[in-house]
Formats: sequence, C-alpha cells, structure tokens
Amino acid sequence: MNKITNHLPTAELQALDAAHHMHPFTSDGALAKKGVRVITSGQGVWLTDSEGSRIIDGMAGLWCVNVGYGRGELADAAARQMRELSYYNTFFMTTHVPAIALAAKLAELAPGDLNHVFFASSGSEANDTNIRLVRRYWDIKGQPERRVIIARKNGYHGSTMGGGSLGGMPYIHAAGGKIDGIEHIGQPHWWAEGGEMTPEEFGLLRARELEEKILEVGADKVAAFIGEPIQGAGGVIVPPSTYWPEIQRICDKYGILLIVDEVITGFGRTGNWFACETFGIKPHIITIAKGLSSGYQPIGGSIVCDEVAHVIGNADDDFNHGYTYSGHPVASAVALENLRIIEEDGIIDHVRDVAHPYLAEKWHKLGDHPMVGQTSLVGLMGSLQLTPNKATRAKFAAKPGTIGFRTREHCFRNNLIMRHVYDRMIISPPLVITTEEIDVLIDRATKSLDAAYAEVKAEGLF
Ligand code: PMP
Repeated sequence: MNKITNHLPTAELQALDAAHHMHPFTSDGALAKKGVRVITSGQGVWLTDSEGSRIIDGMAGLWCVNVGYGRGELADAAARQMRELSYYNTFFMTTHVPAIALAAKLAELAPGDLNHVFFASSGSEANDTNIRLVRRYWDIKGQPERRVIIARKNGYHGSTMGGGSLGGMPYIHAAGGKIDGIEHIGQPHWWAEGGEMTPEEFGLLRARELEEKILEVGADKVAAFIGEPIQGAGGVIVPPSTYWPEIQRICDKYGILLIVDEVITGFGRTGNWFACETFGIKPHIITIAKGLSSGYQPIGGSIVCDEVAHVIGNADDDFNHGYTYSGHPVASAVALENLRIIEEDGIIDHVRDVAHPYLAEKWHKLGDHPMVGQTSLVGLMGSLQLTPNKATRAKFAAKPGTIGFRTREHCFRNNLIMRHVYDRMIISPPLVITTEEIDVLIDRATKSLDAAYAEVKAEGLF
C-alpha cells in the first residue's frame, strides 16, 4: 500500500476512508456513496481540504477550536511536556505539575467556590463523573435514596452511556439503552413549543416543570439537575430570560445539586469565561471540555464546589472512579497554554467588545431573509430558525430537517461550515474571528440561504 499522506488524490483517500473508518453519528454506507470531505490543514478560522478549497469554519470544529487553528505555542507546549514527562497517572497517591497547575488555574478562573477539578478526556466522560459525584455525595450525607438526576429533552451531554442517558435525544437512547435514575423535563424552546405564550411566560412554565418533576419523583429522591446554559447540539436554543433564575430558585428550595454543562459555553464562548456568569447561575458543578484546550488535546473535567468536594474528599472510603488519562500531563500542559493565550491575547474582550457586536448586527439582519423566522446570538454562538411563515412560526411541509440539510449543503458548496439541527442553522466560530472574516461568513451564509430559498420556492414548499 502507498504511504497514506495529504498528497494522495482525494478519491484514493475517500476509498480508504470508506473501507476502514467508521464515522461518529453517520451512516457510513451513505457517506461512502457521496464521498467524504478530507480536511488537510487549518490556520486561524480557515480550513483547507484535499481539493485545495479554503473553507471558513463557522463551527470551530465541533464548537471547540476557540483560539483558532495552527497555534504554534500549543504545539510547542505539547512537545515540551512530552519530552519532560509524557505520561503519568494521578491514581495511587501521585500527581504531577501540569495537573496541579491546570487545576489551580481553573479554580482561579471559575466563579464562586468552584475550587476543585476532577479531570477526564472529554465532555461525555466528565458528565459520567458527575453522575458518580452527585450520587456519592448524597450517599455520604446519609441520603443514598437521592439518586435521580433530572435533565431536559433535547439537551446534549455526550454519547457515553451516562452522558447519552443524561441527554434528551431519543435517537441516542435508542442506540443502546439508557441508564436508570435519569428523568427528563421539557426544554425552554419557545419558538417550537411556546404556542401563544410570551417567551417569558413560557420560560417560567418550562422551569416549573422541574418543580413538578421533583414532586412527582419525591424531593428526597432527587440528587441533581443538569442543563446547558444554552442548548448547543439541540439547536443553539437561548432560553427566555425567566428560565434560569426560576431553575436556580427551585434547586435552592429543594436543596438539589445544580450541574451546569459548559462544555460548549465555557472559555469565552458567551463573552465571559463561563456562561454561568452571563446568565447569573450559581452551580455546584460545571462540566468542561472543548474550549479548555481549544481541541488541541482531548481533555475535559468537572469543576466542583467546596461543599461537594469536601464531603467526598473527607469520607473514609475512596471515590471509586477515574480514567487512565485523568489529568494527562500533555493534555493539561496544552490546556494551560491555551488558557494563557485566551487571557494574554484578550480573546474574551475581543468576543465581547468586537466580534459579538459586529456579528450581532449582521446576524440579526439575516432575520429579514424571507426564510428566517428567528435569529439568536449570545457571544459567538448563534442560530437561525428557518420557516415558511414567520408570523405563525410554521414548519415546512417536508420532513423536519429537510430544508436545514439543504441549506447546509449549500453552505458546504460555498465553503462555509455551518451546521443544521432540524431546520435551524447554527454557528459557533473560533473566538479569534476578525470583522473581515465575519463579513465573509455572512456573505456565504446569505448566498446559501438564497440558494436554498430558491429551491424551496420552486418546489412549492414556501
Ligand atoms: N456536553 C455538551 C453540552 C456538549 O455539547 C458535548 C459535545 N458536543 C458534550 C457534553 C460531550 O462532549 P464530548 O463529545 O467531548 O464527549
């Protein structure tokens, strides 16, 4: 076999991929027929594929490349750490400097008394950690029957058995079952489900489903509630302003632990280090991953408040949980360097003061497009709801997602990566995006919307 490098023709790379590589969340047979896109390099917000196309990445990979592609400092940090100590574990009464330094830095950055970090290699693993943390906490507190975790329909918390069970995606539950003790309540998705209510009324209604669920299950059986500040994979659904204060009030009232999944929203995405600050939420545990290393190394974790960490840490027995790569020294060193870049380059100020205001003006203008019913943008995560009728918030007379998929295909052809969730188009670009690059993104998005609209009209779906 030829050596497999970037220099092979696209068709050959595609054939090898189809023959041997199973893709996540994909029908491999259908992909093989269509031909996979091969990405060969990245710089800033730009990707290059095997055909030489320059693509603007409106999704920062999978919402993770916060500092942009190709940062040499991160490569140097990895190489330095590999030479010094390529691996050691943090089990059995040992530690190492990268894990110590990263945990201390996260404690400094995280709000309130979130001062303790349990490391994992991904967001899914971190949420699996959270299930054990909260159940263990109540066990030690003498309330072992507090095991139920309440989450939301259309929430996303990963695709391990634990993370997938916390998530409210029926297709993931169908992919191999769901663990016990997880309950789901409705999501604060006003556009799709708010009917005649105002967004604020609907936000309260959906938050109060938490109280109803607590009473249904029994307050003495509920361990925790988990939610994303803004549902990401569910379609960048920004909750009405009334939602989180009411969730907080209910968690406080019943003394249940609040886990906020900041895997997407952490590390500057919403214009603050954490979206908990943007929304005024006070969690007991924050889930982190993605932007923690800007995707340069697989790393995630749980940032835990003093109370929970002390109760678990001061018990006589071990907390029986951990991963070979918990606090991996190379991943930790890269994450630490990534946090330095975010801080010293003023990337969060750039999001708040430059990129968000500039994008917001143009993004909300897309609401004038005949097919766009709602525009949402917090920091640098945004969505466009496609609809055939803005006034009635109607759905297309086609299988949900058909028009979103088509629009995404046009984006692909126009060298813009924008995702769709059913008939919502979503973006989450690298946080370093410049105003000139925002112009390119908006230009290509407009062109793609226009092309999809022309087709929809021609087919009588509008
Ligand atoms: N939580 C949230 C909110 C996420 O968006 C994701 C990934 N998209 C995860 C957890 C899972 O993270 P990972 O894919 O790193 O396991």
